[in-house]
Amino acid sequence: MAQQFDVVVIGSGPGGYVAAIKAAQLGLKTAIVEKWLTKDEKPSYGGTCLNVGCIPSKALLESSEKFHEAQHDFELHGIGLKDLKVDVKAMVKRKEDIVGKLTGGVAGLLKGNGVTAFEGKGMLKANKVVEVTLHDGKTETLEGKNVILATGSIPIEIPPTPTNGDTIVDSEGALEFSSVPKRLGVIGAGVIGLELGSVWKRLGSEVVVLEAMDTFLPAADQAIAKDAFKFFTKKAGLDVRLGARVTGSEVKKNKVEVTFEDSEGEKKETFDKLIVAVGRRPYTEGCLDKGCGVSLDERGFVQVDDQCRSTVPGVYAIGDVVRGPMLAHKGSEEGIMVAEIIAGHNAQMNYDTIPNVIYTHPEIAWVGKTEEQLKSDGADYKVGSFSMAAIGRAMAQNATDGQVKIIADAKTDRILGMHIFASGASEMIAQGVIAMEFASSAEDLQLTCFAHPTNSEAVHEAALAVDNMAIHKVNRKKR
Ligand code: FAD
Ligand code: AMP
Repeated sequence: MAQQFDVVVIGSGPGGYVAAIKAAQLGLKTAIVEKWLTKDEKPSYGGTCLNVGCIPSKALLESSEKFHEAQHDFELHGIGLKDLKVDVKAMVKRKEDIVGKLTGGVAGLLKGNGVTAFEGKGMLKANKVVEVTLHDGKTETLEGKNVILATGSIPIEIPPTPTNGDTIVDSEGALEFSSVPKRLGVIGAGVIGLELGSVWKRLGSEVVVLEAMDTFLPAADQAIAKDAFKFFTKKAGLDVRLGARVTGSEVKKNKVEVTFEDSEGEKKETFDKLIVAVGRRPYTEGCLDKGCGVSLDERGFVQVDDQCRSTVPGVYAIGDVVRGPMLAHKGSEEGIMVAEIIAGHNAQMNYDTIPNVIYTHPEIAWVGKTEEQLKSDGADYKVGSFSMAAIGRAMAQNATDGQVKIIADAKTDRILGMHIFASGASEMIAQGVIAMEFASSAEDLQLTCFAHPTNSEAVHEAALAVDNMAIHKVNRKKR
């Protein structure tokens, strides 16, 4: 006999587990199905983000940044250190402990909220029936009045560089190295490539990033991207080669020789390890039975409307498996929206205020439109920016690289975008998100009191600069 639920969620990443908790909180009888097994074959919740994505990468970024600071910055502060060394195994263990705490925490939250969890692989059949193949091979049949697909994404593989779990790895393998590779290649200068490249660069690897496109971070505001490119290549020592398309690889005696083409023709580079970070694709393998009726688009994403409804009434899809940025917080917000819709509320999501962050050092963060997008829209806008070099707190922190840039509508003064390249940008960008959520004008930020000394004063000054009123710089134009 099939077990009956108001909601059956497939996948417990930040999309699925948040949707399940919210649905249960709203009084809906909720089940979640998750197939993840750790390396030692233990079931785990939290999806890509908690197990092999956001959290472990940030744990290693933090450790590597500490080492880098100790090696390069402490002396400036008058602190001497002798015999500095890196224990990669200890770093990886700390990362795994954090992952364990968080994934265990998600299991506890699901239980505490009364969500019934099934550990195994879920497949959606016709009439919102979900068949679960449990890890022990037994099956369970669930019937949901509603089903939420939250099956996430997996790394894209490219034929020239097939991963082998040793010399050629994807983002998951790059979080598992047991020592610092002497020479590391990274294919793809996207978010994941830059973050993972930074981790190993800071720990001492010589890092070469091969990127097919000629433009660095095309989705970011180009003033910020140019600033960041200069910093990464000139100061941080990342060797980022733009316009370099990887065409082949050969593994030779524990090393990998990569062939790529740039404007000068074919070239080769040899690395001890190669990270393939060329993007992720939606994951629906084995989850959608032929008769389930759910349509995919031409790129394999589950087709949904603005409120995440699929082509089958009562079946929703959220997170990386649907259109939009592949970000944990985007999936979670969609999860909340869908749970509320199922509970009878008319919930909607504001896709215009989703923040983007790249956790390099300094960090890159933005919300809203870039100047390039506004230009191509033919919008009438005004821009203010402020350099971190003029911020006292940033000087105290030895973190004066970067800037804050704010763009506002020329007529209404409404903030259209905020773009930051600065230490701590991931936290500072929340100010832009809140401002935009509340439809603030640049003047609203100008009239707000910011604590001194803080790096956020650059947000205040950039807002003032929108109208050529910055205090701590000479404004280019008089008012
Ligand atoms: P996922 O987290 O991928 O979860 C999907 C879950 O569904 C998985 O647990 C999977 O096992 C399960 N599943 C799939 N099919 C089935 C099935 N048939 N039956 C049962 N279970 C199934 N995003 C950020 O916002 N910030 C970051 O800093 C960040 N850093 C990242 C770093 C790395 C290295 C990577 C790889 C990604 C990073 N991301 C980051 C992206 C983020 O991880 C994803 O956007 C997020 O995990 C998507 O959530 P999701 O719930 O849609 O899917
Ligand atoms: P993202 O999708 O943001 O994670 O970025 C992935 C990056 O990998 C993109 O900027 C792609 O241009 C880049 N990329 C994809 N295929 C190749 C390739 N064969 N060689 C070099 N770069 C690539």
